[in-house]
Amino acid sequence: MMNCNFKETIKDINSDYIRFTNLKTLQVNLGNTCNQRCRHCHVYAEPGGSNIMSVNVMEKIILFLEKHPGIILDVTGGCPELNPGFRLFIEYAERVCTEIMVRTNLTVFYENGMERLPEWYREKRITLIASLPCYTEKNVNKQRGNGVFEKSIKALKKLNSLGYGKDLPLDIMYNPAGEFLPAPQKKLEKDFKKNLFKKYGIIFNKLLTLTNAPLGRFKNYLILNGKMEQYIRLLASNFNSRIVPHIMCRSLINIDWQGILYNCDFNQAAGLPIRDKIGKIMEVENMDDFIYNKNEIITAEHCYSCTAGEGSSCIGALI
Ligand code: SF4
Ligand code: SF4
Repeated sequence: MMNCNFKETIKDINSDYIRFTNLKTLQVNLGNTCNQRCRHCHVYAEPGGSNIMSVNVMEKIILFLEKHPGIILDVTGGCPELNPGFRLFIEYAERVCTEIMVRTNLTVFYENGMERLPEWYREKRITLIASLPCYTEKNVNKQRGNGVFEKSIKALKKLNSLGYGKDLPLDIMYNPAGEFLPAPQKKLEKDFKKNLFKKYGIIFNKLLTLTNAPLGRFKNYLILNGKMEQYIRLLASNFNSRIVPHIMCRSLINIDWQGILYNCDFNQAAGLPIRDKIGKIMEVENMDDFIYNKNEIITAEHCYSCTAGEGSSCIGALI
């Protein structure tokens, strides 16, 4: 019978692989407000999302970053740009971080007050990771809402006109439209590049594939359709041991809008915060304790989405 216990699976390979190593990337989730309400969203983001990171929590993160220069900052949401403190946070962080990545849904460029956002990104030389699950209008609108494709194309063209995709990094994040694994990243990248260029003249740097984790709205969909078990089995049966040393949680910490620490965005969505030795939830103030103690990573069934096939992470496939 198939072993669906992720922790045991990893420990059978090497128990060190389930421990945190060094902090390379700090991923900060600024809240769950979003101008979209996508079907697959694993953080339940939507226009009415009210979990918004305060300036107080941002200040604590900046203090940490100042003490630990050279970290990559990965800013996400919801739609991070809709947090009122977003730009100030980036402006403080850019003094001490080696790279700042922002995960943008592109359509936010057309919200009120965001008119000069693309130019601001260019001035700051921010790495942009844009979500676009397909190069066809039909599939994008089905997953992300009517009109999303058209706005996304317009936004990508705007970014290209500012040098993104050429002098500045512009990656596209892809996730499958349902309960299947992404096709090989290199092949998909070729398809996306060909189609987006041929039809719209759009260029970008890398396509990053992300396997859907069975969490949030996607989990609800699986349960409602009686497909949860089948999907977990698909992930587990495609387990790739070569991926294990590279899982992102070995070098990343995720912080939620309240300043609570997680091993990754998925654990945040699953409600599995990092805890100290006595079981107390760790927060941004405790980050030093966590990074120096090489703690064990908290795992669950959804972790199989990171190790299936070519692997999956917030920066795409892992091999
Ligand atoms: S998937 Fe991204 S763009 Fe869609 S609702 Fe969630 S946070 Fe917003
Ligand atoms: S889901 Fe998170 S904790 Fe689990 S393997 Fe992936 S990155 Fe690590």
